[in-house]
Amino acid sequence: MAVDSTISSPLGPPACDKDAKALQFIEEMTRNAHAVQEKVLAEILARNADTEYLKRFRLAGATDRNTFKSKLPVITYEDVQPEIQRIANGDRSPILSSHPISEFLTSSGTSAGERKLMPTIKEELDRRQLLYSLLMPVMNLYVPGLDKGKGLYFLFVKSETRTPGGLVARPVLTSYYKSDHFKTRPYDPYMVYTSPNEAILCPDSFQSMYTQMLCGLIERKQVLRLGAVFASGLLRAIRFLQLHWSQLSHDIRTGALNHKVTDPAIRDYMAQVLKPDPELASFVSRECCKENWEGIITRIWPNTKYLDVIVTGAMAQYIPTLNYYSGGLPLACTMYASSECYFGLNLNPMCKPSEVSYTIMPNMAYFEFLEHEHHGSGSGSNSNSRLVDLVDVEVGKEYELVITTYAGLYRYRVGDILRVTGFHNSAPQFHFVRRKNVLLSIDSDKTDEAELQNAVENASKLLAEFNTSVVEYTSYADTKTIPGHYVIYWELLVRDPSEPPSEEALNRCCLEMEESMNSVYRQGRVSDNSIGPLEIRVVRNGTFEELMDYAISRGASINQYKVPRCVNFTPIMELLDSRVVSTHFSPALPRWTPERRR
Ligand code: AMP
Repeated sequence: MAVDSTISSPLGPPACDKDAKALQFIEEMTRNAHAVQEKVLAEILARNADTEYLKRFRLAGATDRNTFKSKLPVITYEDVQPEIQRIANGDRSPILSSHPISEFLTSSGTSAGERKLMPTIKEELDRRQLLYSLLMPVMNLYVPGLDKGKGLYFLFVKSETRTPGGLVARPVLTSYYKSDHFKTRPYDPYMVYTSPNEAILCPDSFQSMYTQMLCGLIERKQVLRLGAVFASGLLRAIRFLQLHWSQLSHDIRTGALNHKVTDPAIRDYMAQVLKPDPELASFVSRECCKENWEGIITRIWPNTKYLDVIVTGAMAQYIPTLNYYSGGLPLACTMYASSECYFGLNLNPMCKPSEVSYTIMPNMAYFEFLEHEHHGSGSGSNSNSRLVDLVDVEVGKEYELVITTYAGLYRYRVGDILRVTGFHNSAPQFHFVRRKNVLLSIDSDKTDEAELQNAVENASKLLAEFNTSVVEYTSYADTKTIPGHYVIYWELLVRDPSEPPSEEALNRCCLEMEESMNSVYRQGRVSDNSIGPLEIRVVRNGTFEELMDYAISRGASINQYKVPRCVNFTPIMELLDSRVVSTHFSPALPRWTPERRR
């Protein structure tokens, strides 16, 4: 096959003609990154020249980089929130985009405790689809024979709401799974899933997961890869199997679907595929009733070649658990994306998680990079920070990603910090370092320092009647259990030791903290069951002073020492845990309803 692909591959040529075209496209885009970026910017500026937002900055029809950079400010969500709110309220005039805003994508990033609303336009679905279409051609270079079996992917839709102006607001993946792009995708032997659309599209998370797991068990020998979007999602599926294997095995034995699955579309589908299979049922029971679940994934799905889950960024905390359940199968992180825009893909998906780099595809949006100052205070950048173009970033440096999208975000700070690891042709490759200002994360929740501080303040008010206050605190995302949960260490000042705070009051403090968290956290607790009850561990007096002594003994400056508001360094955890005098858990679920949209 005459394909000019320079993507390094141990296996050689593309798997099929379709793959060859996709790889060729990657080559073209990455070779011409500079020109593609110029064209993307010109397109965005030309088509949106008459929007209220761009007119404000008097570009006078200019679509070149220099004018754009000299006239448009770099912004955050809060800067553009008034415009977004007007669109949400029903203003259909071209405010940000000349193309009508088709819906809002609800980001897991929050503003004032609520999910951010990202405007999108219809054609963005094509752009997302295009990026998805590049993933398998790259994977096929490294893992042969994926057309000989299926993928067991746990994919879910989440609840959606409408804005006062009538636009749908929902997560980007919900939007994608409900689109015709996904639902009526043409047959592709490399992308056959065990999960039927009926299960993926069922809004009830129990029924959806139950059916997806059941289908995965029925076709266990065909499964060549297992996946979910994030590592936490795949572990939730394993936990689900731990809790429900007996019922699942019963269904397989009898050929009758659990009556708790009531969704008519699922029942119709399963009536076709679920047949009594006592041998498989006994196998599932035999494996699952064992105490030891080490390597369970390869025992149940013996032909699995890799796990397809994101384990970069905050998800790295799940790598040891995934290795335990899979016996160390390769972990493939295939793409880097957000509600604002899909960014790029990993051209070497079978590499070690610590070595994952994403190549940003220059056709997706216009990308700029704000040099990230390691020692800056708080925001990590200041007015002197330099913004550079995609092709001008330097290997080894860290940058914050700034995007200009077709849907009407201009010079928008995404909040992700990326480090340049190298180039593929002239397109840089990035290691995802972290999201700015995120202290705690279990699933898609992201809790920052201010939110944690506010939660501690609210909860500690409940201790006033005991004449007690919180003198110091820190936190930890405990992911040893599934689902993981937040642990907050408190050192208390109990002014009247004869009347310390009651057990019940401290439990209520846990719940009060949860009530104070943002809506993504509360949705994780209530609707998705992806986060466990918050725990407060009260440590004995003087513990935080010991923590400081420890930091100073390791070279911290006594003048500049600040209590870390989140910890994960083992000796520090051991110190804290050895000083715990009592532990308390949230006794109930916090309040959460699908969001109000003002
Ligand atoms: P959302 O706002 O819910 O659309 O989430 C998008 C954010 O998830 C990105 O801005 C990143 O912070 C994070 N994210 C997405 N893909 C990856 C990845 N492959 N590795 C690490 N973090 C990611």
